[in-house]
Amino acid sequence: MQLRRIVQLWLPLFPMSPFQGAAARDLQRARKEWQGEILIYLSPDYKKVSRFVLQPEGTSASLGILGIPSETTNLIELIHIDEEGNCFPPSGHRLPEEWKARIPENLFQQWLNCEPPVISAVNEMATFFPIERRGKVKLEKKTLVPPPYLIVSVKIDKNSKNLKLEWPPKGYEFPPLSISPEAEIAEYIKPPKEIKYDSRVRLKWPEPFDRLFPIGGSVDFLYHHEVMKKAIKEKDEIAILAWKNQFVSTVKVTLDLIWTLPKLTRDILSGINPEITPDVGFFVDLQGKYDIVAKSLKEMKENKDYIKKLTQPYEIPCIFGWVGYFWWELSERAKEKSINICERCGNVIKGKADKRFCSKEENIECFRARRTEDKRRGRQKNNAD
Ligand SMILES: [Zn+2]
Repeated sequence: MQLRRIVQLWLPLFPMSPFQGAAARDLQRARKEWQGEILIYLSPDYKKVSRFVLQPEGTSASLGILGIPSETTNLIELIHIDEEGNCFPPSGHRLPEEWKARIPENLFQQWLNCEPPVISAVNEMATFFPIERRGKVKLEKKTLVPPPYLIVSVKIDKNSKNLKLEWPPKGYEFPPLSISPEAEIAEYIKPPKEIKYDSRVRLKWPEPFDRLFPIGGSVDFLYHHEVMKKAIKEKDEIAILAWKNQFVSTVKVTLDLIWTLPKLTRDILSGINPEITPDVGFFVDLQGKYDIVAKSLKEMKENKDYIKKLTQPYEIPCIFGWVGYFWWELSERAKEKSINICERCGNVIKGKADKRFCSKEENIECFRARRTEDKRRGRQKNNAD
């Protein structure tokens, strides 16, 4: 297993462009107030910044929730991904169950190689927002209607019936290099009623991405799908870095969030009861990596070094959204110069710098077709000889 860098990932329920005024300001508000919480509620209904504590039944853990008075309504879930890909919180309702709280490697490659999305209808969504009433935290049901889908820059390809991004949209003057089609159209087309919205459609990606993007993402997701492939094809490291930097900042977190909790989640999900004993590897790693000697969780929690390290913040990258995460993964691979575009089928492939085509594992059809072509060429050459 390849070790990765430990990161924190922010996952909004509704697509939230860090390039769009109100959303960008709300994001800034949340970053400023964040103090280790794992859920952030944004709502214009909140009158002040509120902090709530959630105690999952049957555990002694307490998880923080942050409520922010904001311009937009959204719910941001935070997950911490350790060097093995283990997640904390396991985030059951946002990640596919079969992942068992472990993010697969090279997710960006899988995303870039999936077929462009098709349209489907969307419903309203119900969710609970925490609210304080007379000193007590109550969960209030809110019905949220996903933001309408912007269709001015999208068209359906006549042949494939797939959705294509049209940039710049016909009849409008925009700089050719878009940063966020969603934000640019919304901000520059006046009056706003001119903007064509449709609330009955949305992007529908193949699994697991439909699960990851709860309402399909925005037009920007389509755009990044194209821009990322182009950057790989042109080996444009500067573009990759510039895009990545738009989604990544740094954050200070405690050892619990980046190490103890993801590892315990891994052990719980693999059937080891942490109340009795986590996997032995847990304590071996704890000593090897952080110089803390303990044989049980009790010993660990009482260990002076552990307590001291718990109060010490660790600086790690903080990534915004799945698109940001894909840019991050790509930039890590680009450093190793191990990423390419298959010259035959256009898929994103991994391997040595001079690798030109899909391997059997990457695209079996492309691999077989190339084999057949090679054999045919070989026979023709033999015949000519
Ligand atoms: Zn291929």
